[in-house]
Amino acid sequence: MTEKNIKSLRKSMRLRILLYSVVIVLISVAVSAGVSVATIVNDYLNEKKKELGDISVLLGEEIAIEREGGLYFSFDEYAERYYAATGFRVTFIGTNGEVLADSRSRENIVYMDNHADRVEVQEALETGTGSAQRRSESFGRDYLYSALKQELPDGEVVVVRLAMEVDKNKIAAEHGRAMVPVSVLIGIVIGGALAIMYMRQITTPIRELEKQLAEMIEKTRKAENIRSEFVTNVTHELKTPLTSISGFAETLQGGAGDRPEVRARFLEIISLEADRLARLIDDTLIISDIENGREQMPKDADIDVRQAIDEVIETLKPMAESEAVTLHFDCQYNMIIGGDEGRFKQLLYNLLENAIKYSGEGKNVFVVAEKGNDDCVRVSVRDEGIGIAEEDVERIFERFYRVDKSRSRDAGGTGLGLAIVKHIAKLFGAAISVESEPGVGSTFSIRFPV
Ligand code: ADP
Repeated sequence: MTEKNIKSLRKSMRLRILLYSVVIVLISVAVSAGVSVATIVNDYLNEKKKELGDISVLLGEEIAIEREGGLYFSFDEYAERYYAATGFRVTFIGTNGEVLADSRSRENIVYMDNHADRVEVQEALETGTGSAQRRSESFGRDYLYSALKQELPDGEVVVVRLAMEVDKNKIAAEHGRAMVPVSVLIGIVIGGALAIMYMRQITTPIRELEKQLAEMIEKTRKAENIRSEFVTNVTHELKTPLTSISGFAETLQGGAGDRPEVRARFLEIISLEADRLARLIDDTLIISDIENGREQMPKDADIDVRQAIDEVIETLKPMAESEAVTLHFDCQYNMIIGGDEGRFKQLLYNLLENAIKYSGEGKNVFVVAEKGNDDCVRVSVRDEGIGIAEEDVERIFERFYRVDKSRSRDAGGTGLGLAIVKHIAKLFGAAISVESEPGVGSTFSIRFPV
């Protein structure tokens, strides 16, 4: 993924987030408005229910008093009067459910259903009062009912029922309007907060991803820089022996070759420089092979540590002898580690070769292979040579870093030996540690996991 891709991704994400945020805000505005309107309608209906109840008590008492007077008494008249005064439908129902009078259907009263099954009537007969909200079977509209059981002085029991038509939309329109701006505001605040939370939740991982990508790009850039620097260094390092070879060859051609002792010395130099050239090329190839991962190290192949080290020592014995350095090897147990034997030997060869190169006549080099207490194999190479200053220890694993360039060159070094060691150790998952004191000697230890 490139930076440009990320940018367009970010843009489309931003659009989508904006869209979602608007939707979230709209939904919460709708929910908040809905909840507050529903609350208002409910409050209104409760208030009305209480009002209906109060009026039915009043009406009940009035008819009881009127009956007591023994005067002419008509339920119709009361129904009519109270309807006229309150606007509520008034119904009187007998205990058997017969409708005695109804303010809304005076003439058709004989056709009205028996009301014994009406919830509010049943409730009133059982407990004294009752209420209900439902669709009226008589008129096909929603009504709020409040009923009261009233005992008259002559022992007759009637149910006084008051009802009002309920048009929720009308109530909401009339009483809920004032709440709309407030609920919109509440909706915007809650919706906005939710949208911000949602946005955070989405953008945090994207930011994290961007950060990782930026790091990756930086890493790649660095790796590219290191690579091109390496190429420059290699070219430079190759040029030196080549210049020297062609220089001596030309001199020989120019007549210097006539003198045998000069010719022999020049040819020796040419041969040494050619060796160095070959070593440089070899080391460069090894590094590039390991770096390009062309060598997938077989993890399950067993390496017999003692035998591998013995073979490396054998190879380097002639060099040690010519430098008058004595090699010692101590390995108490048979140890096996998993990995590529060739690479293991290469690592040890480089360390041992350095130990010999940077020692000096009459010195000792000790190779020790032992079992670590944490189930690992530890191989260390200790010398009594020139040692390394503290500030250089950190740098010696860099490619072409040499503490003393001419000494390294004289000793046939390429400046790549420890860089290869570091790479191979990484392949093995091994840790390297160096202890060194100038003038006293150095110890390189590698801890291999088993
Ligand atoms: P070179 O081919 O120069 O030996 P290396 O990468 O093997 O390159 O080592 C880098 C540098 O580290 C050497 O040039 C040398 O200065 C220092 N060095 C490595 N091993 C030792 C050692 N055993 N004793 C002292 N110096 C060492």
